[in-house]
Amino acid sequence: MGAPDERVIQLVMRLRGEGVTDAKVLGAIERTPRDVFVPERFSDQAFENRPLPIDCGQTISQPLVVGMMTQLLQVDDRCKVLEIGTGSGYQAAILSKLARRVYTIERYRTLAKEAEERFARLRLTNVTPRIGDGTKGWPEQAPFDRVMVTAGAPVRPDTLLDQLKPGGIAVIPVDNDQGAQTLMRYVKTEGGELQETAMMAVRFVPLVDGEAKAL
Ligand code: SAH
Repeated sequence: MGAPDERVIQLVMRLRGEGVTDAKVLGAIERTPRDVFVPERFSDQAFENRPLPIDCGQTISQPLVVGMMTQLLQVDDRCKVLEIGTGSGYQAAILSKLARRVYTIERYRTLAKEAEERFARLRLTNVTPRIGDGTKGWPEQAPFDRVMVTAGAPVRPDTLLDQLKPGGIAVIPVDNDQGAQTLMRYVKTEGGELQETAMMAVRFVPLVDGEAKAL
């Protein structure tokens, strides 16, 4: 990989204009080739600020949402991060540039395998993918400094928040009572209490209980 694509520079400038101001986050986006994470038929749209379809009826998030969520998570290179909903692997790839280690869970085997190949191809050796039901978290690796969920939870996922360290931060889309989703940010105090703040309206595919039967 040589100089960043002109298209990614345009995208980064746009995201900055829309509120992603953290230079480290913008740098991580600039260094992550989104075209590697989208289906080939959409590669001409890979650097547009829009979500795109991926396999198994799922979506790769809009870059602005990836940028905002990453910024809200305040990741640094000491952080052990858990992501639920690997999908294409794009968000995990961005996190891997900022964190010490990223653990990511996907319920569809096809998506998990494709993402794993992309991590290898880009030499993102600090990402550990796994196929399974992310609603249970990753007890063997808990506790985590940061938790990000990239699917909409029907209610606050306490099992995942229990796997957050004191002082840790989680960013999770949760259904609200207007039939939509709110991006919630949780901070666990040193005493273990949760402080929650509603950040913005988002639209994610649902977080589904249980392992996927096929695919
Ligand atoms: N972060 C992804 C976008 C994810 S779309 C990216 O950057 O491309 C949400 C993903 O969450 C889908 O792939 C969906 O299959 C997955 N998902 C939904 N419920 C899940 C669960 N219980 N465990 C693991 N993954 C889940």
